[in-house]
Amino acid sequence: MDPLMLDGNAVAGLPQEVFAVEMTTAIATCGSCGAADAIGATHVFRGAGIVMRCPHCDNALVTIVEDDARVWIGFAGVRTVQVTV
Ligand SMILES: [Zn+2]
Repeated sequence: MDPLMLDGNAVAGLPQEVFAVEMTTAIATCGSCGAADAIGATHVFRGAGIVMRCPHCDNALVTIVEDDARVWIGFAGVRTVQVTV
């Protein structure tokens, strides 16, 4: 095993720390057009799940699906998310 490689458990606290912040003011950079804007400025569509779209190019930034016990969050359309800690 590569001595510099760790499994995901080694950084489990990081996502917990990141997602504990106020997300509406987090800045998402769109993976399609490159615009950087607050998560709160996205266009949100509800159906079987939730799709958050870029207000500049309509790219699907984030998808959220939940059932009674779990939540699946996809950031496929986001290049980066900037949060203030
Ligand atoms: Zn965009």
